Amino acid sequence: MKIIINSNKYIRLLVSIHNLFGPEDSMAKKMLNESELFGKEFHLTAQIYTDIKTNIKKSGQNKFWTLFLDKNMPKTKQKYPNLIKKLNQLIKLNNKNKTSKEISNQIIKNFKKHETKINYLLNNIFLFNLPEEVNLIVDYDITTSFTGSSLSYDPVIISVQMPEYANKIMTISLHEILHSLINKNKTIPEDKYRFEEALLDYFAPRGIIDEKLNLINNFNIKERFEQIIFNRPYVKEEAQKLLPIIKNYYKVSEKTNIWKFLKKSGYKFINL
Ligand SMILES: [Zn+2]
Repeated sequence: MKIIINSNKYIRLLVSIHNLFGPEDSMAKKMLNESELFGKEFHLTAQIYTDIKTNIKKSGQNKFWTLFLDKNMPKTKQKYPNLIKKLNQLIKLNNKNKTSKEISNQIIKNFKKHETKINYLLNNIFLFNLPEEVNLIVDYDITTSFTGSSLSYDPVIISVQMPEYANKIMTISLHEILHSLINKNKTIPEDKYRFEEALLDYFAPRGIIDEKLNLINNFNIKERFEQIIFNRPYVKEEAQKLLPIIKNYYKVSEKTNIWKFLKKSGYKFINL
């Protein structure tokens, strides 16, 4: 898997704007103070988000990030930097520095170290392979959260924050990669996003996958449930319903895939 690390200042500002105005429930509880970053320029961020959404519709796209990272879309790339540039003059973010280089190296090193095992687990549990390419947007200025943003499209785009948590980035990224693979394979209908969120939270971060990669000592499902509903109160119902099912799945996780198990447990909408 090729990892492309992106620390571009404009893209990082866009990540924060997307977190604030993006899909319903996209923001974990800890990220709510992200709005403080923009202070009195908050209105400009709303304007930028609305403009981007309008432009996405016009271009027949519905993927926010492809507008900025897809090399085949030069027109939109020309337009947006102007508004973002204006915001950037008002909100000073640091340029690439030594810390960002260290974080980037650490992320790539961690992935390389665990890649074989990750692929094995993804194959056995989800019937997926790791994508060929992942875009990681690394942010080291905004220190309100170490929860990855849900920017999961193809190519996979993940924003990660808080440099002191560089080691956790891999497993947070895995959560986002799984969203992307589910989206690409249409395994879970889009309107079941709360179910998808609760399900993935049981696997990574701090979940079953973390335990199998020896990143945590043991997986305690009750504890994980409490963490999930603390971070995302809106998935409580789904997480509660999944708790006994995941508890049983955990015992057979390398012998049977999760989709088969969920279908047997009554989740008929699983499409795999
Ligand atoms: Zn998620």
